[in-house]
Amino acid sequence: MDRSIIGNWKSNGSLELNKIWFKDFQENIKDSAISSTAICPPYLYLDQVSNIINKANISIGSQDIDISNGARTGSISIEACKDLGCQFSIIGHSERRTLFGETDLNVREKLLVAQDKKMSIVMCIGEPEEDYLSGNTKDYLFNQINKTIKNVDLAEDFTIAYEPIWAIGTGKLPKMHEINTIHKYIKDIVQSTSKNSMVPKVIYGGSVTSENAEELFKEDCVDGALIGGASLNGKEFAKIANQFLNKGL
Ligand code: PEP
Repeated sequence: MDRSIIGNWKSNGSLELNKIWFKDFQENIKDSAISSTAICPPYLYLDQVSNIINKANISIGSQDIDISNGARTGSISIEACKDLGCQFSIIGHSERRTLFGETDLNVREKLLVAQDKKMSIVMCIGEPEEDYLSGNTKDYLFNQINKTIKNVDLAEDFTIAYEPIWAIGTGKLPKMHEINTIHKYIKDIVQSTSKNSMVPKVIYGGSVTSENAEELFKEDCVDGALIGGASLNGKEFAKIANQFLNKGL
């Protein structure tokens, strides 16, 4: 159950809040749920957070990575992330795509470099609301998957986060059975598209809270969750991770 419940703190947190987060998390997490958890703090807090969580069995990841080190002002390399304890990185988050102009080709490049440097990857995909409403979700996702992983030899722990863009931070979610159908579809398409016919773990992201997690985790093809807003509170994040235990993987 490694890294199934991932908190994406985005550009949040502070030296003080990060300590409070861990105290709240520790007071509420069940021992057996800890190993399924992972958090992605902002880069500048990675070192502090690694120290705070010390030897607790929580994985640390970065929210993104750059394709190279060297003369790339302002960017963060895989080497630096690894140095600060990151075992994996998110790539292709819709906020990177919409706010910073990243394309599927950029995401593919990051995936290839990361795999080369033995950095595990959680790759986000997801459709805009108009595509969901017009029944175009599968075609949209097919296109994203095709452009990013076609003929790629995927690492064993390669993970996809299905995040409908319209569900991120809005409190709106697809119906649980729709999420399950899409996760099954993603597994099938990745299997037929990747070079090594890999069937990935698929986690769901978009307005997951402790109120809806239990229902979500009942779905067969939901292998975990990527959590934004609700991961900023240590107690809420722990409650979600505790509910994942019922999945009995
Ligand atoms: C996200 O941005 O990855 C996310 C899932 O956000 P939220 O949980 O706040 O919808």
